[in-house]
Amino acid sequence: MAIVAVLTANFFAGCATVDQKFGDQEWYQKSKSVSAKAVEVTSTTASKAYGRMQKYLAEKDVLKTFQDAGEHSEIAVLGVLHKSGIASTAAPPTATPKQPKKHPLQPAPLTTVPEQYAGSLRWPLDAYIVSSEFGERWGKLHKGMDMAADVGEPVYAIADGDVIYAGDGLRGYGNVIILRHDRKTSSLYAHNNELKVKQGDHVTQGTLIALLGSTGHSTGPHVHFEIRDGDTAVNPRAVLPKPKVADALQPPARAATAANWQPSTPAVAP
Ligand SMILES: [Zn+2]
Repeated sequence: MAIVAVLTANFFAGCATVDQKFGDQEWYQKSKSVSAKAVEVTSTTASKAYGRMQKYLAEKDVLKTFQDAGEHSEIAVLGVLHKSGIASTAAPPTATPKQPKKHPLQPAPLTTVPEQYAGSLRWPLDAYIVSSEFGERWGKLHKGMDMAADVGEPVYAIADGDVIYAGDGLRGYGNVIILRHDRKTSSLYAHNNELKVKQGDHVTQGTLIALLGSTGHSTGPHVHFEIRDGDTAVNPRAVLPKPKVADALQPPARAATAANWQPSTPAVAP
């Protein structure tokens, strides 16, 4: 019992000791306050998404009916991919590429794009109900996954990349974004209510790119989401991390708080 009491006392004394040691130093005050703010923002976003997820789960019978209402133009998408040099049939970039004219609406030239994206991927939505899986549908291949939610649900970039298309000119897709992540990989987000980025923009993972909607061939608010390797659409579930939807059935994990936060050694001595 005595040992437990000593350990417990030491544990609770830990933060106070750090405060006493560094408490009057500016870098410590500053990083402690930044850390507390970051935790606050993260936990607010997470708990709001958790709230929306509860709502979607309660309405899931209706949400499951929100899908594509017809064919999308495959030719139009391939046209965008080929134009950006991403398709499997694209010629390899030459050693001394001609410098294209700088134009704000043109994405970066392919030679500046990584050969293979090195980071991890994230899901395009924080809260949703999958209403139609990738695979055989209507006797054809459904090249994406349909994810239903309310109009205005934020849609995020799954990885760093360039916006190679942002508009409503691809038949069936409505307001659609196409991102290029490396020389072969692209992702597509269709039927949005509103687009938040434009062609030529560079985005990082988690950038808000659109607000979900029901434009184009659609039976109700959802994102038709595709990932492609060259010309070929792949099953998003095969490449995305395990979905967080299951987590939404549980209360969000207790976030770190300023009280249990520990400072790391500052890079530059104050
Ligand atoms: Zn779809």
